[in-house]
Amino acid sequence: MQTGFSLAQLADSDVANSEEILRTCVHCGFCTATCPTYVLLGDERDSPRGRIYMIKQSLENDRPADADLVRHIDRCLSCLACMTTCPSGVDYMHLVDHARRHIRETGHRPWHQWATRWVLATVLPFPGRFRAAVAAAFYARPLSALLRRFEPAKPLAAMLRLAPRTLPPRSRHERPGVIPAIGERRARVALLRGCAQPVLGPGINDAAIRLLTRRGFEVVLPEGEGCCGALVHHMGETESAETFARRNIEAWTREIDGEGLDAILVTTSGCGTTLKDYGFLFRNDPDMAAKAAAISERAQDISEFLETVDLGTSHDRPPVKVAYHAACSLQHGQQIKDAPKTLLARAGYDVREPAESHLCCGSAGTYNILQSDIATQLRDRKAGHLSALDADVVAAGNLGCMVQIGQAVDLPVVHTVELLDWAYGGEVPPSLAAARLA
Ligand code: SF4
Ligand code: SF4
Repeated sequence: MQTGFSLAQLADSDVANSEEILRTCVHCGFCTATCPTYVLLGDERDSPRGRIYMIKQSLENDRPADADLVRHIDRCLSCLACMTTCPSGVDYMHLVDHARRHIRETGHRPWHQWATRWVLATVLPFPGRFRAAVAAAFYARPLSALLRRFEPAKPLAAMLRLAPRTLPPRSRHERPGVIPAIGERRARVALLRGCAQPVLGPGINDAAIRLLTRRGFEVVLPEGEGCCGALVHHMGETESAETFARRNIEAWTREIDGEGLDAILVTTSGCGTTLKDYGFLFRNDPDMAAKAAAISERAQDISEFLETVDLGTSHDRPPVKVAYHAACSLQHGQQIKDAPKTLLARAGYDVREPAESHLCCGSAGTYNILQSDIATQLRDRKAGHLSALDADVVAAGNLGCMVQIGQAVDLPVVHTVELLDWAYGGEVPPSLAAARLA
C-alpha cells in the first residue's frame, strides 16, 4: 500500500514503524475471511483490511481519532487471526496497538466509556482489588439483567455475569518463593503468577508447579512480579503497560543476575504474547532495551516448554475425550498450534478439535466486558462447536477463554497443564472430580 507520510511525521518512531507495516499490506483481502468481526458483521470497516485503511487515513493526515475509527478499532478483538492468514506478513498487532494509543490520546469517548475503562485498569491488574470486586459482584449479580437493558451499563452487567459465584481456595504458592525440584535439579525456571489467574484459577499454576518440580525443575516465583500489562496495553494505556512491564523485567533480571533463569514460563497465553513483546515495547529505551529483550527471549508458553521435556510415562486413567480450544493468543499471537494437542495425545487423551478452531471465543482480555454483544455471539458459536464433539472436558491454555467458554458449555473446562499434571501423577483437576469423570 502506498503511503504519504512526511519526513517530520516519520521522525516519530511509532509512526515510522506503522508506515513500514502499512506498506506491506497489498489489500488482497485474504484476511477478511478469518476475521471474527467481519464474519459476524459483514462490514469492511470491521475487517482487518478496512481497519488498516482507516488507521492509515487517521495517522497520515494527523487527524484525531474520529467516532468511526474508535468504533471499529474497539470492535477488533486483537485476536490476530488476520496475521496468521495474511500472505504478506502484515504486522497487524503493532499497528492496532498504535491505533489504540492514538485513540487514547486523541479520541473522544462518552464519559461512561472512560469510566468503565478506568475501573477495569484500576481493579483487574491487582489481585487484592480484583478479589474484593469479585466478592462484591456476588451481591450485585441479580441486577445484571436489568443493567443490560441500558447501553452505558452493559459493561457492568457483563462484569457481573462473568464473575464466578464462588472463588476457588487460594494457592499455597500465592507468595513469592522458590519451590525446589524433586530429586536432582536440571534447570531453574520462573513461573508468571500474573493478576487475575491467582484469583480465578490458582489451580493452574499449582498444577504446573507440581508437574515441573516432579520433572526436576526448580520453580521461582520472584518478588516484585505482577500483572504483565496486557490488560491495559490493549486499552491503549501504553504508559501504564510499561510500568507493569518494567516492574516484571526488573524482578526477573534480578533472578537472572542472581542464580540464573533458564526460562520464564507462562500458563496464560494472553500474557505470554505480551512478555514475548517486551523487547519491542522497550526498543527505544536505552536503559531497558537489552533487559527487555533478554526477558522476551526467555519467555515461553508452558506447552512450548513441556513439549521439549521428557514427561515420563502417563498413568493409567479412564479414557477421557478432550475438546481442545486453541486460544487466539496461543495459535495466532505465538503461533503455537500443535504443542498442546501433541502433549495431550502423548498423555493418552483422545483429543478432538472443533470446527472454526481459528475463530476467537470472544474473551480477548476485557473485550467480553467492553463489547459484550459481539463477545456473546462468538462465545455461543464456539460453545456450539465444542459441544458437538461429544467430549468429556474442554481444555484451553488461557484463563480468559476458560471463563468465557465455561459460561456456555455444559462441560468442565480446564487448563491443558491440569490435564497433563493429572496424567503424569498429579492431582485430579477439581472440576473433573466434581463431574465424577476421574
Ligand atoms: S491479507 Fe494481509 S496483505 Fe491482504 S489485505 Fe489483509 S492484511 Fe493486507
Ligand atoms: S485482530 Fe482479529 S478481530 Fe482484529 S482485525 Fe484481526 S482478525 Fe479481525
